[in-house]
Amino acid sequence: MRYPRLFLITGFLALLSLGFLLTRGDAQPNTVKQIAPGVWFREGDIIHEGHCNNMIIEMKDYLIVVDANFPSGARAALADAKKVSSKPVKYVFDTHHHGDHAYGNAVWTQQGAVTIAFQGVADEMKRYEPARWQSAAKERKDVADMHSNGPEPPKQTFTDNPHVLTDGTRRVEFRSFGWAHTRGDGFVYLPKEKVLCTGDAVANGPYNYTADGNIGNWPNVVAGAMKLDVEHVLPGHGPAGGKEVLVGQRAFMLELHKGVEAAIKSGQKLGDLVKTENGRQVAALQLPDSVKNWVGPSLPAQVTDAYNEITNKKAAGDLPHQ
Ligand SMILES: [Zn+2]
Repeated sequence: MRYPRLFLITGFLALLSLGFLLTRGDAQPNTVKQIAPGVWFREGDIIHEGHCNNMIIEMKDYLIVVDANFPSGARAALADAKKVSSKPVKYVFDTHHHGDHAYGNAVWTQQGAVTIAFQGVADEMKRYEPARWQSAAKERKDVADMHSNGPEPPKQTFTDNPHVLTDGTRRVEFRSFGWAHTRGDGFVYLPKEKVLCTGDAVANGPYNYTADGNIGNWPNVVAGAMKLDVEHVLPGHGPAGGKEVLVGQRAFMLELHKGVEAAIKSGQKLGDLVKTENGRQVAALQLPDSVKNWVGPSLPAQVTDAYNEITNKKAAGDLPHQ
């Protein structure tokens, strides 16, 4: 997810007026749940704060945190990390470059942690920043209060895949399966515990942001992750789950792409697929009930991105956008 589009005031009010997310009974924002011994899942408050989820992984002498979050989310996750373990946070892995996953980088490095990521994350940051940071600073006090002209890039980047960290107590694999949500998408896999942290390549709920993505390739990325032996799926947004989260996310992207492609073949234009009613965009395209967990207020934007991707024969993220 990326902050600006979903959380511009109008989008935010539309979400609230739909009451869509508020009625999701399985959401437990700001709670920390143990997934396996020494592995915790912190569900971020996406509705009020725009925060992503965080994972805390305990090693022999230190902690690894997955995703830097926004600055305010970084502080909340750091406080919770201190509650579950007295060990210091040594590494913070940015799954991708979006503000709700990486703008807190400097909060962590000021605490002595090293921010790490695939090289593709740093490349995406160069592509889109500092413009996005500067617009986020106008909307968010925690970003403005960092008094910086742009986000702090990850301090260490790597291109080996998987990139492995191990200290004899636990093996942590940083893996890349290609371009889904962003060009830099990184996963974290714990083979012994069968835990997979997905970043926003996999969401558990209607949180998919597709403008920087590659919708046509997205199912291939999730299929790559599905080859791993996984019991626990810890998504970038939404509650933790099992393998069914991967299956559903992949199906959503397949149905979105298939539905828009069929509409284009039958001669429909973007204006037929996304209409404006009472000043609000509404998708005319219906997706099957089997993927309804992933369908929400972002559907018109997702249909628009899929339409542009298919008609231009170029990934949505490769087309001109902010
Ligand atoms: Zn994102």
